[in-house]
Amino acid sequence: MSSIVSEASEMADELVKIRRDLHQIPEFGLDLPKTQQYVLSKIEHLGEITLGKRLSSIVLLIDSGKPGPTVILRSDMDALAVNEETNLEYSSTNGFMHACGHDLHMASAIGAAKLLSNQKDQWSGKVSIWFQPGEEGHGGADIMIEEGALEIGGNAVASYGLHVFSSMPLGIFAGRAGALMASASGVVVTVKGQGGHGSMPWLAKDPIIAAVAMISSLQGFITQKLSPLKPVIINVGWVKAGDESTTNVIPEAASFGATIRTFSDESLDQVKALLPQYLESIAATHDVQVSHRFNPASSVVNNNPENFELSKRAVVEEFGEERFLEMEEPITGGEDFSSILKKVPGNFIFLGACPAGSDYETAPTNHSTQAVFDDSVVADGAAWLATMALTHLGD
Ligand SMILES: [Zn+2]
Repeated sequence: MSSIVSEASEMADELVKIRRDLHQIPEFGLDLPKTQQYVLSKIEHLGEITLGKRLSSIVLLIDSGKPGPTVILRSDMDALAVNEETNLEYSSTNGFMHACGHDLHMASAIGAAKLLSNQKDQWSGKVSIWFQPGEEGHGGADIMIEEGALEIGGNAVASYGLHVFSSMPLGIFAGRAGALMASASGVVVTVKGQGGHGSMPWLAKDPIIAAVAMISSLQGFITQKLSPLKPVIINVGWVKAGDESTTNVIPEAASFGATIRTFSDESLDQVKALLPQYLESIAATHDVQVSHRFNPASSVVNNNPENFELSKRAVVEEFGEERFLEMEEPITGGEDFSSILKKVPGNFIFLGACPAGSDYETAPTNHSTQAVFDDSVVADGAAWLATMALTHLGD
């Protein structure tokens, strides 16, 4: 075992406690005051702190005092608006849940900060550790970039981050060069018709019938307008129309929202260019009006091949070959670490956290109210993050 892995494992109990403390105070979106306060209490003394203005972000800059480049390590901080149903003794009770494991990411990043700070005399340059709110579709990474987080420390040469999964084998690091995760965005479509009496539909312009026609032709849109060699997912997540207390009214409007996943920014541009016309042609058939709004997108998570190789080598050398899984295909989930990767080359890696004794193939997945993460991986996550910084910062 290398020194950094053994030093991290000595911290394991402390890091698990940090993770469980954070698990009990989950917060949603961009404003995470309790989480920010807690993280600060663990890292304040380790370097220079910069807090976000429009969000509760923290950047910790650890300066070795010797000249050299800056490496960015990033953890997200936000939870989801779901009610925890794990029955764990440290379950959250406030209606939010760290169901995506960002509490483990924070604990690993705090661990990496401690490891790097303890060894400050053995490396040159700076490490900029980001704690980022609003990863779950709130554009947190972009806001941190707008507020100047990339400039802290200057001369950033590489960026790294990790993500745990409750349904991936425990302790396995997984990744690939190039596209690792999809671009994620969404569209909200509103159909305006003309309401009326449910007994006389021919006198109204029914927006429900038009919205249903649009929803059921979305897969036809993909087949007819987009190349099958560039996969696109469009999946409707909600539909709204009428009022459940009445059945004899044709409403004025109907709306629905869908998530859109692609594996290149060009594919997303194509969807944005072609989908509105397609919906309009269906609206015309039904004599209704349609409007749409695309939500802000996170780009494809694109791992730089060189940084991927360095990451893979770090896992093999520090933990052993059997701990690394090279993925053949990207996954359809999205991540706004992509915004950082667009500015600074780097690598995002997955870390399996399926509880010991559970079957990863049937374990509840991230975002489930029953997702359970084995936090024994937190120390390894810390060791990997610290190793990636040291890879660039020499000695
Ligand atoms: Zn996540």
